[in-house]
Amino acid sequence: MRIDVVSIFPDYLAPLDLSLVGKARASGILDLRVHDLRDWTTDRHRTVDDTPFGGGAGMVMRPDVWGTALDDVLGEGAHLMVPTPSGTPLTQRRAEELAGEQQIVIACGRYEGIDSRVAEHYSQRPGVRVSEFSIGDYVLNGGEVAALVLVEAVARLLPGVVGNPHSLVEESHGAAGLLEYPVYTKPPQWQGHEVPEVLLSGHHARIERWRRDQALQRTAARRPDLVAALDPAGLDRHDLAL
Ligand code: SAM
Repeated sequence: MRIDVVSIFPDYLAPLDLSLVGKARASGILDLRVHDLRDWTTDRHRTVDDTPFGGGAGMVMRPDVWGTALDDVLGEGAHLMVPTPSGTPLTQRRAEELAGEQQIVIACGRYEGIDSRVAEHYSQRPGVRVSEFSIGDYVLNGGEVAALVLVEAVARLLPGVVGNPHSLVEESHGAAGLLEYPVYTKPPQWQGHEVPEVLLSGHHARIERWRRDQALQRTAARRPDLVAALDPAGLDRHDLAL
């Protein structure tokens, strides 16, 4: 898979050289390229923004600069992802869909964002899809952190990136639609806190049942919206008794 990130702060994307994403890049699983938007400016000051039409505070990123950059970077069949707090929330389902893409291009906004004609223009271009996405109901200074989130959420789903693919099966926001159960490791006692006895029992059926109960209780307490969205056909008698 190829991912291109375009930003006026390419150094912000340096962590993409680390950890599993860095390894995926080094091994060739992920072809990730970071571009400086200012390389596509034509004036002496390398200007990327201007005042908003209609007035108001802040600056808006110019469509002409973004247009030249994106014309160069977007390949055939690319998916242009534009981070914005007014976008569709990024979810695990969306990350799974995006992991099947050939090329993702992430256009990182700054200031008051990118002139709206950019998303409109490319959504009308044959062979390009455009999605405006949000990483949560809060406002950041720029799209770079959202780009880091998107790259990591997608890259870890590519075959060969996470060492044990089974780790991806029982996670929060997985097929079960639940948050993950609590996890523990050695030592069995720490600062007066004990590991739940059932996890030391070696009794696999009991452990599985305990984990399922914990996942259900935790999801009900923290994310009732996820419980409401569960398919009742996937619940057993024990689940319903909780
Ligand atoms: N004026 C914009 C608004 O109210 O919707 C906020 C612009 S914000 C200061 C600058 C940039 O940060 C945005 O263009 C976007 O790239 C990024 N950004 C901020 N919050 C975000 C979020 N929750 N999700 C994704 N991107 C975000």
